[in-house]
Amino acid sequence: MDNEMTLSFLAVSENEALARMAMTCFITPLDPTIEEISEFKTVVSEAVTNAIIHGYEENGVGIVTIRALRNDREVTVIISDEGKGIEDVDQAMEPMYTSKPHMERSGMGFTIMESFTDQLSVSSAQDKGTTVTFTK
Ligand code: ATP
Ligand code: MG
Repeated sequence: MDNEMTLSFLAVSENEALARMAMTCFITPLDPTIEEISEFKTVVSEAVTNAIIHGYEENGVGIVTIRALRNDREVTVIISDEGKGIEDVDQAMEPMYTSKPHMERSGMGFTIMESFTDQLSVSSAQDKGTTVTFTK
């Protein structure tokens, strides 16, 4: 069966739980294992956190949108913000690169997202925003 959904919410940290819950419900009909659910939630969480703290720098007014599509057993998720964007995507995706070392960020978000997905791509334009797309 196919399915799709779109969820938009204010870029505030309390909505991370909302995003995780919505995505868990979306994949539940596929009878995922506990591990699959946990990996899925982690990827969504990392991308949403990035949108909130990097994309909008916690300004409290930006909007994050999650679009999810299910085609049989394959799920594609597109997480986008219209925040400040990433200057150098290749550099941002390197393990341990963070632009906020003073905030005790480890710079492992993208590395974790890549390890838990079958395919992950990031497109970004400065001052226009960032889109993370993954399939699992
Ligand atoms: P961690 O995720 O381990 O807490 P981090 O968020 O800095 O640390 P990554 O998630 O790998 O590490 O992201 C790397 C860098 O990419 C960030 O430091 C930030 O500069 C940039 N970045 C990631 N997502 C966005 C986004 N949505 N908008 C703007 N910049 C982003
Ligand atoms: Mg991160």
